Amino acid sequence: MKLSTNFSLKKHNTFGLAAVANHFVEVETQNELIEFLKNSPLKKDLKLVLGGGSNMLLTKNIDGTVLHVNLQGVCIKEDAKNYVIVEANAGENWHKLVLWAIANNFGGIENLSLIPGNVGTAPIQNIGAYGVELKDVFYSLDAVEIDTGKIVSFTNNECNFGYRESVFKNEAKGKFIITAVRLKLSKPPHQTQINYGAIAQELANKSVKNPTIKDVSEAVIDIRKSKLPDPAEIGNSGSFFKNPIVAEELANKLSEQFPDMPVYPATKGHKKIAAGWLIEQTGWKGYRKGDAGVHKNQALVLVNYGEATGEEILLLANTIIDSVDKKFGIKLIAEVNLI
Ligand SMILES: Cc1cc2nc3c(=O)[nH]c(=O)nc-3n(C[C@H](O)[C@H](O)[C@H](O)COP(=O)(O)OP(=O)(O)OC[C@H]3O[C@@H](n4cnc5c(N)ncnc54)[C@H](O)[C@@H]3O)c2cc1C
Repeated sequence: MKLSTNFSLKKHNTFGLAAVANHFVEVETQNELIEFLKNSPLKKDLKLVLGGGSNMLLTKNIDGTVLHVNLQGVCIKEDAKNYVIVEANAGENWHKLVLWAIANNFGGIENLSLIPGNVGTAPIQNIGAYGVELKDVFYSLDAVEIDTGKIVSFTNNECNFGYRESVFKNEAKGKFIITAVRLKLSKPPHQTQINYGAIAQELANKSVKNPTIKDVSEAVIDIRKSKLPDPAEIGNSGSFFKNPIVAEELANKLSEQFPDMPVYPATKGHKKIAAGWLIEQTGWKGYRKGDAGVHKNQALVLVNYGEATGEEILLLANTIIDSVDKKFGIKLIAEVNLI
């Protein structure tokens, strides 16, 4: 277990916000984690569990303890004829796991290439991209209950996954620390998914006819690199808001008024609307005040050009929510965790 005091979190969040934590504790094994939860005097001040810091806005300094979960290791738990169950510890980098799966010719997560963050956090918002969500390959996970230090397992059903949702954002919020995730990945022949977004077009541009999982991963990586700002260059947390899911009547009414509005199917009686389009239509794309702004190509991505504070970005986010609500009657909800 590593302990630091008055620790700057700037390098631990992709927004690059210089919030300071009173205490920063890093655990590298499940035993260290349990030891911390059962015996450390710093546990009572636990304010934040930190993975890769790519899905959070640190709105202020952390007056208490930040616990960085850094458990490493990947192994095959079951090797069947058509599939493998792979277990990865929570601190493993997600994209590194995707590349490992591709190198071993295990399919299912290639569309989720280049999503920042750690494996242990992937189930929390059921990460998704290009037509695939974690839930499609998720098998089970282990977590430690914060109150008791007990190890608990969750099956796919028990995680209650939805669009950028899981039990860990609802009933189980703040109660568990995820330590390991198991995925069920396919062995060849793989069923690649290329009908979402620009994947098929990207593959056609490269004259790829029968794409392998590696081809799909490379296409996704190229598309993402061309569309999303790299946090190493401009601080950001990916999509700041969720795409709103609204009642079908409202979606239909708005479609009449704004025929160009992108609308997607959602649960029965509902439609999903592109949040980026709503933000663009209210004139925020490319906006900048000080170092806080809205990306010039991606209205859904709020950015820190350098020295913005979390408070400034939060103020910008709230102003955008109000203006979209005023124009469209839709209240955007943050996808990013506001800390
Ligand atoms: C450029 C960019 C692009 C992105 N694109 C996508 C995308 O396409 N699809 C997508 O779904 N997401 C996307 N994201 C969001 C982000 O990558 C994911 O949400 C990722 O899973 C966050 O992982 P993390 O380890 O960085 O989480 P963190 O930011 O460290 O934590 C997120 C939340 O989980 C909690 N937490 C962290 N670790 C644990 C743990 N072990 N146990 C319990 N709670 C924990 C934290 O307290 C916090 O509330 C993007 C982000 C960026 C910066």
